[in-house]
Amino acid sequence: MNKTIIVSNRLPLQVKLEDDNLNIKPSVGGLATGMKSVHAEGNGIWIGWSGLTKEELNENLTEQVNKAVAKEKCATVPLTQNDIDNYYLGFSNKTLWPLFHYFSEYTVFESEQWETYKKVNQKFADVVLKHINDGDTVWVHDYQLLLLPKLIKDKKPNTTIGFFLHIPYPSYEIFRTFPWREELLHGMLGSDLIGFHTYDYERHFLSSVKRILRLDVKFNEVSYLDRIVKVDSFPMGIDYKKFENAALKHTNQEDNEKSELQRRLDDHIQSGSDAKMILSIDRMDYTKGIPNRIRAFEYFLNKYPQFKEKVRLIMLAVPSRSDVPQYQKLKRETDELVGRINGQFATVSWTPIWYFYRSMPFENLIDLYTSSDIALITPIRDGMNLVAKEYVATRTNQDGVLILSEMAGASKEMNEALLINPNNFAEIADTVKYALEMSLDEQKNRLEILQKRLKRYSVEKWAEEFLKSLNNTKQLDAVIV
Ligand code: UDP
Repeated sequence: MNKTIIVSNRLPLQVKLEDDNLNIKPSVGGLATGMKSVHAEGNGIWIGWSGLTKEELNENLTEQVNKAVAKEKCATVPLTQNDIDNYYLGFSNKTLWPLFHYFSEYTVFESEQWETYKKVNQKFADVVLKHINDGDTVWVHDYQLLLLPKLIKDKKPNTTIGFFLHIPYPSYEIFRTFPWREELLHGMLGSDLIGFHTYDYERHFLSSVKRILRLDVKFNEVSYLDRIVKVDSFPMGIDYKKFENAALKHTNQEDNEKSELQRRLDDHIQSGSDAKMILSIDRMDYTKGIPNRIRAFEYFLNKYPQFKEKVRLIMLAVPSRSDVPQYQKLKRETDELVGRINGQFATVSWTPIWYFYRSMPFENLIDLYTSSDIALITPIRDGMNLVAKEYVATRTNQDGVLILSEMAGASKEMNEALLINPNNFAEIADTVKYALEMSLDEQKNRLEILQKRLKRYSVEKWAEEFLKSLNNTKQLDAVIV
């Protein structure tokens, strides 16, 4: 029987070594949820890195890891610390991530890291090739593995390969600056189907293919060697039910079931201060527009002083890639801005910004989502942005306003949100005021449409649609033969 192989940089498992004992549990991210039924089907398998390097594992432990992950229908790609330094922390996070998010000035091009990136993609291919048979389907995920489709296709042409990019694909003018641009495009074109979150990313990719490789492109199909490569957009959704149910349960919570955070939020709501809550949640990443958001909030307080003591910005920033200098700089800048603005505006009874620099358990995220009147999501550039969708899914009382950057992929499906340009402080300030004063009827009307759409196009549906399209490419091949 043919099977489906999923490949991503990390396995959907948290593998930890505690005093030489292995602790393995499933991770709860969106991708793992979307892939759940695909992975569970037949003799499907998920291939990726365990999170532990070769240096951290002796022979005995390696065997234990392999056995334990095999029980979860997974297989590991063994990586060394040097691989991680150059392929993951280096090339993926210091070259591809900033370049594809239009942060050219942060992008480093180092040939040693590129060599390791190629070598590690080959390591992934070696493990895939061990497991794959003719007729199988492979679904490769994300920017760490752009070369993998070709490495598989060259050795196993009678397999069907899909690739999905979870980050933006930049315009040709940005992509053309990449020194190894031809090789990267050839790597991706090893696929039968290439998927992006939005039509714009798809368009940018096709334009690079046309102009750099001079290939024939018709609508969304690329003629490549003796094959057709299909390119399409599949906006990733969320596990809608999980967020909706958690919010419903939350509304019916007894006092003694409430978290410490929720108690503090309740105190705040009931203090009579009438302060509305504006929420932002992101990884501490320069693409997320965190300093801009704080400055725009300052601009808002100066332009509309009547809202002093009447609004509060609650900012959750999750630590991320903190060994990369640009991320350290961003953390310093954020700390300073929050300190300055709180120092400038605070009164004895009011602090304008509550700032948390840590991650929070799911229950606390729900506390924040359900207690906030407005979500202010202002990335400078973002492939999709799931936080925006999660906020909408938790507003089961059908009140609340989403303010969303037009630079987030999610904005393409969320026209009923208040869309803003994250660099335009005046526009953000006016939009925050509009949101604070929006009638409940308008909030409800906007949310209803957003919720209906998100519910229908959940993460499970996203996976299903991608695989359906991938399967259709087999018929395309049959017609060409
Ligand atoms: N999130 C989390 N713990 C936290 C804060 C956020 O797990 O403390 C989750 C959040 O629920 C969302 C994801 O992290 O599902 C962030 O996804 P998004 O697409 O918004 O941004 P990314 O971090 O992937 O760039």
